[in-house]
Amino acid sequence: MQGIATICRAMQRVRLLILNAALGPLDYKLPEGVEVAPGQVVVAPLGPRTVTGIVWDAGRLPGPEIDASRLRALREVLPVPPLAEPLRRLIEWTADYYCAPLASVARMVLSSGGAIGGPTTMTEYRLSGGMPERMTPQREQAIEALEGEQATIRELAGLSGVSEGVLRGLVNQGVIEPVSVAIDRPFEISDPDYHQPALSGDQLTVAKRLVKAVEAQEFAPFLLDGVTGSGKTETYFEPVAEAVRMGRQVLVLLPEIALTENFLVRFEERFGAAPVQWHSSLKSTERRRAWRAIANGEAQVIVGARSALFLPYKQLGLIIVDEAHEISFKQGDGVRYNARDVSVMRARYEKVPVVLASATPALESLHMAASGTYERLELPNRFGGAVMPRIELINLTEEKPGVGKWLAPPLVAALEDRLAKGEQSLLFLNRRGYAPLTLCRNCGHRFQCPNCSAWLVEHRLSARLTCHHCGHETAPPQVCPECGEPDCLVACGPGVERIADEVAEILPEARVAIATSDTLGSPERAAQFIAEAESGAIDVIVGTQLVTKGFHFPELTLVGVVDADLGLEGGDLRAAERTYQQVAQVAGRAGRGSKPGEVFLQTRHPDAPVIAALEAGDRDAFYAAETDARRDAGAPPFGRWAAIILSSEDEREAREAANRLGDTRPESDDLYILGPAPAPLALLRGRYRYRFLVNARRSANLQEVITCWLDSHEFAPGLRVGVDIDPYSFV
Ligand code: ADP
Ligand code: ZN
Repeated sequence: MQGIATICRAMQRVRLLILNAALGPLDYKLPEGVEVAPGQVVVAPLGPRTVTGIVWDAGRLPGPEIDASRLRALREVLPVPPLAEPLRRLIEWTADYYCAPLASVARMVLSSGGAIGGPTTMTEYRLSGGMPERMTPQREQAIEALEGEQATIRELAGLSGVSEGVLRGLVNQGVIEPVSVAIDRPFEISDPDYHQPALSGDQLTVAKRLVKAVEAQEFAPFLLDGVTGSGKTETYFEPVAEAVRMGRQVLVLLPEIALTENFLVRFEERFGAAPVQWHSSLKSTERRRAWRAIANGEAQVIVGARSALFLPYKQLGLIIVDEAHEISFKQGDGVRYNARDVSVMRARYEKVPVVLASATPALESLHMAASGTYERLELPNRFGGAVMPRIELINLTEEKPGVGKWLAPPLVAALEDRLAKGEQSLLFLNRRGYAPLTLCRNCGHRFQCPNCSAWLVEHRLSARLTCHHCGHETAPPQVCPECGEPDCLVACGPGVERIADEVAEILPEARVAIATSDTLGSPERAAQFIAEAESGAIDVIVGTQLVTKGFHFPELTLVGVVDADLGLEGGDLRAAERTYQQVAQVAGRAGRGSKPGEVFLQTRHPDAPVIAALEAGDRDAFYAAETDARRDAGAPPFGRWAAIILSSEDEREAREAANRLGDTRPESDDLYILGPAPAPLALLRGRYRYRFLVNARRSANLQEVITCWLDSHEFAPGLRVGVDIDPYSFV
């Protein structure tokens, strides 16, 4: 401490990383008697306004120095702990690696802006039980919707669908009352010895190795490679417990909010208390409370979505990335980072172990394990003697579903059999809604999104035509907008809702549930679904990729993959791997209890290598073939890809900017650049998109080449340039 104070007194001038990507670093002087340390969050004047910034280490942010006489003084040092050095280095690394502005990365760290130096209490509102003097339809709507809710006025307006003005009117009348919420009220304490389960031999071996790594408090990356149902969670709870005993914080990243519920239940059984949660549907008071507890070290175990990775942990001791192969760890816009990869970097800077857990690891992760960079830990068997399910192919070119139907006779027979036995079935189709495409039967008009080059998807449950890219929605029209024919809509192809209808026809007495982000969008709804599925109140689950992850339903003995070929369409680089992972994961939901599971894959391409590998249950063969294909293509992990997307509301502006950029493409032996070409999604949210793909050898300095290339151009204000390093989406 002494050391830091001395340095900072000497540091009369400070350079700030400003939380605004349009501004570079700015220099200020310290007011008389004020001391700051690197990492401190401060407020500084800028013209007539003020900006928030982070005091950065001297010499690490490039840029000209302005003369001391022109420096303005910092306005205020905010009372939050300074961002520690490992986190500052992580911010720099992330910005460099993903070609993103430092400010954008820093904003993720300080994402809960209100938590910074804000008050220690906040006001939330709830119904008081009283009634307004005059009832209006909007007031009635609000009172009905807000039963049992408590949140800020803005959040309540979102929940009830009425304006904040209407709610304020109800506050004035005493119908809605304010409640003071303490932001710093403590979280429950996790007890590392609350309930220790008896681990199997394999589990114990793995757990001991990880506990040792936690005790060592050194950087150590692990790949926990365990089959579905092997008990990876129970196993990694042991090093979690050890870190808690040592007074260190643990971050557990999960790919999906819908999975959190299952995790919370198991966590409470093991630790006797709930962990601290971090995800996008937290209320603002919960967000502030969590942020502050994380920063001051009070939060012990934090379970969160990928954004939890950038929080300012006071004393991290361990990071777990569960279902580490999941593509939802990759952020698709803003800073396009992959939380799996950044978590390894964070662990490196923090000098702590990191565990990537998966039954179907990404090829990149297996490669790191094979080369010895990651230590591989294996759980080759299911816990408690459950056996892996048998996988059978249904060749759709021979076993045809009925006209306008999607389930082939053997799958139908298996569904009937399970219902008769009182066992559960799961049908997997990665398509939300009723049908992916809607036509006019008279003129063939296709319903397309006005803002995107994409079809509108019919959702019958909500009676909407919806764009899955921008969220545009309309009611299905009474007459065709093209030819005027009434009642003309024809649904083409199946979505989960249509499959659910088909099941209801085949098995009228079955209780069918649809599990997608539309039906399980909030933690509460996910919890309700899990409770119903576990209690046996559901016979058939029809779901999207959401049901491939993490769920554990002991009575589930049949899995049907409605269209195993679906993921192979579209030709993206990881199509085969993703198909393998999705099918293997969804198959892994079957037979996790005492009864064995059976899996049917409906396919038109039984000979495709990935389908054949799935049938044979031969993971190694699949990965070996995929490794060869990637090596030939110079794809990761052997080479690297980057995408550059230029977009504008003006088609011509986008095209011409892309062509101009293309004219100055860098020439190099170790990388080549494809494009520009219209992106497969040529129009997205009203912006026209042109794309370059860069394929580089590992020897190339990909980021530097791209940054120099882009920096040498001036782009019009309406033009956006997005860089995606290690892209997952090629649209
Ligand atoms: P995975 O994540 O590897 O697919 P899970 O962690 O979901 O597997 O474990 C499968 C099931 O086995 C869960 O219900 C889990 O509670 C149970 N289980 C695993 N290990 C143990 C253990 N040592 N003691 C008791 N139950 C266990
Ligand atoms: Zn759209």
